[in-house]
Amino acid sequence: MQLGAISVEKPERIRYYAREMVSVKKSAGKINIRGQLLFEEPMASHTTYRVGGPADLFAVPADDNDLIALLQFCSNEGVEPFILGGGANILVSDRGIRGLVIDMTGICSIAEHDGILEVAAGLPVSDACAWCADRGYGGLHFLYSMPGSVGGAVWMNARCYDGEVYDVLAYVDTLRPDGTIERYTPRAQDFGYKVSPFQRDNRIILRCGVRLTPMDRDTVWRRMRSYRADRESKGHFAAPSAGSVFKNNRAFGSPSGVIIDRLGLRGSRIGGARVSDRHANIIINTGNATADDIDRLAAFVAEQVRQRFGFTLEREVLRVGEW
Ligand SMILES: Cc1cc2nc3c(=O)[nH]c(=O)nc-3n(C[C@H](O)[C@H](O)[C@H](O)COP(=O)(O)OP(=O)(O)OC[C@H]3O[C@@H](n4cnc5c(N)ncnc54)[C@H](O)[C@@H]3O)c2cc1C
Repeated sequence: MQLGAISVEKPERIRYYAREMVSVKKSAGKINIRGQLLFEEPMASHTTYRVGGPADLFAVPADDNDLIALLQFCSNEGVEPFILGGGANILVSDRGIRGLVIDMTGICSIAEHDGILEVAAGLPVSDACAWCADRGYGGLHFLYSMPGSVGGAVWMNARCYDGEVYDVLAYVDTLRPDGTIERYTPRAQDFGYKVSPFQRDNRIILRCGVRLTPMDRDTVWRRMRSYRADRESKGHFAAPSAGSVFKNNRAFGSPSGVIIDRLGLRGSRIGGARVSDRHANIIINTGNATADDIDRLAAFVAEQVRQRFGFTLEREVLRVGEW
């Protein structure tokens, strides 16, 4: 490529990706789904950090058959899909995601039979809590007002207010890359703090069964509103973020936020990314942050903690895409 008098060579890797993706995009014409298929979709529109470059291909399947067709496409084209829930626990790079993103939010059915909720992966977890509360059920209520989808909460074994997803999980229906659907029954040894068995393989969570508890409608709503108020008081919704950046580790003696606080790092910033003034384990996008700003600030915080205390903080927010 010639820019004025300067000759700029495209690195080999970029040329390779460009060739590959032109061919994958051409083949995408063969995908026949009821849902949507988009090209060069900006991931910033699908993440709570509001950052992230384009996904080459972005599909929103409408049902299980769409998903199977998309997996078939990936297998034929040698493309690794990325499964997207609510985008509340990911940091997508500014370069975006090569290949296919499968956005689960189009798959969002919900029903209750004999005290078991069957809810599809793409439904926002708060909507599921509200649906149950309206019918006089608790069980899932501890997750109310936590951003993200049901599938993402199961994948992360999300936890808050003394509850974690594993506590109420009756079963999970998953789709394997070869298109087979399997019902998994949770086993204690497969789960842990922010750990689920789905992190160890590439099954897609389709839907899950949740054990509900009959509860007075007003009582469960009062409790759920108190969770929302608590999150608001901690500034959870005041600026784009992905919640806690680092996992807590009991061996460190204190929650990660407290450890970071000891270093006085609240308010530290790189570009448009800032360590929240209200919670030291949250990095916010002040409006014009890039993914790189957020990533570098997280790395800076981790390095300060390592140098001062010798602890290596583990990231909870997942780095996704082409870094
Ligand atoms: C303000 C704020 C507060 C938060 N508070 C909490 C909190 O209190 N507790 C907590 O645990 N988390 C919290 N989080 C983090 C986040 O809400 C949870 O981790 C949530 O469960 C992420 O769900 P998601 O659908 O957004 O997943 P995504 O961010 O979309 O994806 C996360 C991972 O799950 C995988 N995944 C998603 N759906 C599927 C599926 N159907 N099948 C297979 N894999 C899938 C993705 O591939 C990715 O690897 C908070 C986030 C924010 C922004």
